[in-house]
Amino acid sequence: MLHDGYFYGKYHDKIRCFLCPHNCIIDNNKFGLCSVRINKDGTLKTMNYGEITAIANDPIEKKPLYHFKPMKNIVSVGSFGCNFSCDFCQNYRIAHYKPQSRYISSDELIEICLNSEDNVGIAFTYNEPSIWYEYVYETSKKLKEKYPSFSIVLVTNGYIEREPLIKLLPYIDAMNIDLKSFKQNYYRKICRGDIKAVLRTIEEAYKKSHVEITTLLVNGLNDSMEEIEEIASYLGKLNKNIPLHLSRYFQAYKMDRPPTNIDVMLEGRKIAKKYLNYVYLGNIANVDNSTYCPKCNKLLVQRNGFLSKLYIDSNQCPRCGYNIKILL
Ligand code: SF4
Repeated sequence: MLHDGYFYGKYHDKIRCFLCPHNCIIDNNKFGLCSVRINKDGTLKTMNYGEITAIANDPIEKKPLYHFKPMKNIVSVGSFGCNFSCDFCQNYRIAHYKPQSRYISSDELIEICLNSEDNVGIAFTYNEPSIWYEYVYETSKKLKEKYPSFSIVLVTNGYIEREPLIKLLPYIDAMNIDLKSFKQNYYRKICRGDIKAVLRTIEEAYKKSHVEITTLLVNGLNDSMEEIEEIASYLGKLNKNIPLHLSRYFQAYKMDRPPTNIDVMLEGRKIAKKYLNYVYLGNIANVDNSTYCPKCNKLLVQRNGFLSKLYIDSNQCPRCGYNIKILL
C-alpha cells in the first residue's frame, strides 16, 4: 500500500530521504536504494506500508533473543526491501525482490497479536524494519498505548538515522541488532553501509531498550580472533551484560565460501567471554547454549534448540544472588 513517508526534504527538483544514513537523493518516479521509498511528484511515498510477506508465531529464542521473555512466543512479521545489500543475505528473496505480499492494517495485526497463544507481542523481523518505518512506528505506538503489557521487538541491521531512531525507541522493548563486523571496509564492501551509524544505534538503543547483538561470522572475512575480540571488547565497555550471538555463516545469495569452521567459532566464544557475561553460538547443532550465572556458574536457563527450561524466577541467581540480566 502506498503511504506517505516520514523524514525527507526537497533537494532542488528532487527529494532527499533522511530515514537512513544513505540519505538518498531521489528523482521523480525513482526509488531510493532500499527499493521501497519513491519520489512521487515531489512527495516521498513508501510502498511497503502494511504489506506482509511473512507472518508466524515464533519462539522468541528464534529472533534470537535469549534474555528477553524466555520460553514465550512472539508474532513475527516481515515485509520487503532492505537498505543493505549483504552478499550473504539469507533473506534475499524478500530483501531484494518484490515477493507477493498481503495488506494487514495495524489494527488487524494488533488483533492477531492479542489472540495468539502464549504470545508476548510483535516482532518486526525477516526484512529490515528501519525501512518499514511508518508501519512499524504507527503499529508499535498503538499497541504500547492500548496494551502496554505487550512487547515490541525489532530485529535490525541498526542502519537508521538518529532522529527516527529516537522517535521510535520509546515504543521498543527489545532489539537484536546485527554488528556484522568491526571493520568499516567490511561494511562498505560486503554490506554497502557504514559502521559508524550502526555503532551509534547500538549506543542509543541499549540505554533505552533490551539489546542483544548478533555477529554472523563469515569464513575468512570477519572470523579472526582479533576482530571477535574487538567486537566483544567494544560491547563489554558499553555493558558486559549485553548478550552476543556469534552465528555461523552458510552459503547464501552471492557468497559461496564454505561454512565457517566450528572450531573457530568455539575459540571465538572463549575470546568473547573475556569481555562479556553471555556469549552464544547460532546455526550450530549440539553446542551448549544454556545460560549460567557469571559468578557461581549455576545453570539458569537450559536451552535445547529453541526449547528452554528456566531455573530462575527473578533477576537474581537463586544460589549466589548475583544480578542476572534476564527479563522474564
Ligand atoms: S530509507 Fe531508503 S530511500 Fe531513504 S535514505 Fe535509506 S535507502 Fe535511501
